[in-house]
This record gives sequence, C-alpha cells and structure tokens, in this order.
Amino acid sequence: MSIEFGPKYVRAIAPYQGGKPIAEVAREFGLDESNIVKLASNENPLGMPESARQAMLKAVAEIGRYPDSNGFELKAAITAKYGVPPEWITLGNGSNDILELAAHAFVQPGQSVIYAQYSFAVYALATQAVGAQAIVVAAKNYGHDLDAMARAITADTRLIFIANPNNPTGTFLPAAEIEAFLKIVPPQVVVVLDEAYNEFLAPELQYESIAWVRQYPNLLVSRTLSKAYGLAGLRIGFGIAQPSITDLLNRIRQPFNVNSLAQAAAVAALNDSAFLQKSAKVNADGYRQLTQAFDAMDLEYVPSFGNFVLVRVGNEDTAGARVNIALLKQGVIVRPVGNYGLPQWLRISVGLPEENAAFIAALKKILAA
Ligand SMILES: *Cc1c(COP(=O)(O)O)cnc(C)c1O
Repeated sequence: MSIEFGPKYVRAIAPYQGGKPIAEVAREFGLDESNIVKLASNENPLGMPESARQAMLKAVAEIGRYPDSNGFELKAAITAKYGVPPEWITLGNGSNDILELAAHAFVQPGQSVIYAQYSFAVYALATQAVGAQAIVVAAKNYGHDLDAMARAITADTRLIFIANPNNPTGTFLPAAEIEAFLKIVPPQVVVVLDEAYNEFLAPELQYESIAWVRQYPNLLVSRTLSKAYGLAGLRIGFGIAQPSITDLLNRIRQPFNVNSLAQAAAVAALNDSAFLQKSAKVNADGYRQLTQAFDAMDLEYVPSFGNFVLVRVGNEDTAGARVNIALLKQGVIVRPVGNYGLPQWLRISVGLPEENAAFIAALKKILAA
C-alpha cells in the first residue's frame, strides 16, 4: 500500500484549471502560434502599458537585490490614489495571494467559509486548502444572492467571499445591496470584496468601497493589476483593510511575495490613467461587438460588467466542451466552464476587434455545421 501524504482535505483539492497557453494549443493542434487568438483568461488585449515597460526596464538594473519587502513606493502610490494609509495595505503576488492569505489568516480547519455558486474558483481552493467547510450559496440569476448568503452564516463562519463584478458570470451587485449586506454581517466574520474588474465599471456604477473599509473593520477589499492594468504575468494585486486585518495578512505573507519588477511596473500603471481609459474603451467596444453577434446568432448570454462574457452555445451538457474543442481546432482559445457547473456555456474574454471577429467567425462556422 502506498503512503498517502498530507491531510485528506488537501488530497481532495482539484487543481485550478487556467486558460490554455497559446504555445500549448499550437503544439497540440499543429497550429502556428501567430494565428492563435486567446480569449480565455480575461487578460488585457492591449498587453501592458508602455509606462510599466519603461519602469521595469529601469528596475532590471537592481534585480540582483531583494525587492522591498514592505513595498514602500507602491504603497505610496496606492495611498495617493485611494487615500488609505500604508498600514491598511497588503501587497499580494496577484490578488489571488490576498484571497489565500485571508483564508489562512482567519479560518481554522472545521470552520466555515461562504461563497456563491458560480463565483470565482479560487474561493473553493482557498477554503479547501485550510481544511474549512465550504458553504456554497445558490446563485440568483447567475449572480450572488446576498440575502441567502447572509442567512447562510453560522456560528463558526469566519470568511465570506464576494466577487463584484463576478467571474465567470460577469454579474454585478449595486452598491446599496453590498452596503445593506455589510450592515448585517456579524463583526467576527471577515468579508472579502474581490473587485478584480472594478476598473471596467461605467462611471455611474462605480462606488466607494474604500469608504466602507473605514466603516467596517471586518471588510477586506481586494484589487488586481492583472486585468484593466494589463500586468497579469507579473502577479501583483493588493488588499485594503483596517490594521486589525492587515497586520495579520502581513504576518503570514512571504516576506518577498511581490518581486521588484512587479512593484515598479505597478507604480507606473496605477498612475497611467490614459492607459486605463483606453482599456475601458476597448473593452466596452469589444463587449458590444461580441454581444451584437450573439444577438444576431440568437445565443443567450449573461449581461456582463467585466471584460468577458458568458455565452450559452447549446442546450446539451456536452455543448461547452464540444464547441470549445472545435474552436481550439480553429486556433481560438476560450474558457470552458463545465468545472463551474456551467457545461452548456463558454466564457469569452473581450479581445481586440480583429480577435473578436476571428472568434465570431469561427463560432458561426461551428454552430452552422
Ligand atoms: C482574475 C481574478 C482575480 C485575480 O487575479 P490575480 O491575477 O491573481 O490578481 C481575482 N478575482 C477574480 C474574481 C478574478 O477574476
């Protein structure tokens, strides 16, 4: 008999399934990399901002040294932008890191963590990694049902994950609903408000989550530079919360969890409002392009507030996987979401106009066949 290492709850974890890398699809399907379109990981189709590239080139000279463990410059940039003191900021190796740190800092094995059905896969992973019990609350119209989530809180609940907008469904909770929820959550329960797609929200939908952080000591807001800021490959995100939360996150994070190139690039990107505006515009235009095509093809989709859209490509539970493979054969990488319990759907990241067009043409061909 072979030895089984580690606790049962670790062995039970199903690994995260990311978007297929371009090089892998090229190898598997015998395609030329330059002809492949990747709309699978909600990356910024503009790539990184030029300002970040320049900042990194400068920072390369010092790469022989350890990064600043406390991220002084980057925290200063975040302080300037969001008006929170540096003691309220935790830097993460991607915001994924912040989500993991929250689970490790606030939850013991056997305690419970609440998140919504069809919400970000990392919530389940972070919960399982600490041996906690997941309370998965049924979605309402593919989004969070905050009333039901509040009712699901038990005496041993320590953490609640909320994604706004949500991935992979793109749904959005208006500010008033979140605020009403924060009011009734017991003070010992930490609420992680994951705002990975915040920068894509139209101005009239933007809300002041940082003001809530001042009001609610149990609120942790997380942000990333992977999406609108175009720095996914660098792995940089941050959390904002009062020191009673931030102190603990900083104690358990790795001392050098954010590398020096990422820190330098993030400072430049946070100050690059022109790039951010351009990203939002490209996204809004591309979203319209994709959804107009879905309308014309009579395909159901979930209206999205992020940089991606969930579309139903068939009525059988094999549809998502089947159309996904057919798209791969044509060099288009999107994200199947069967692992989220959405086997009839695909998640399409918004790309450049020509990328969206290539996807639409491939999809039309497949669905007509
Ligand atoms: C993409 C994403 C993140 C974080 O990504 P990082 O690259 O780790 O910062 C976090 N939450 C949601 C909901 C996401 O979709």
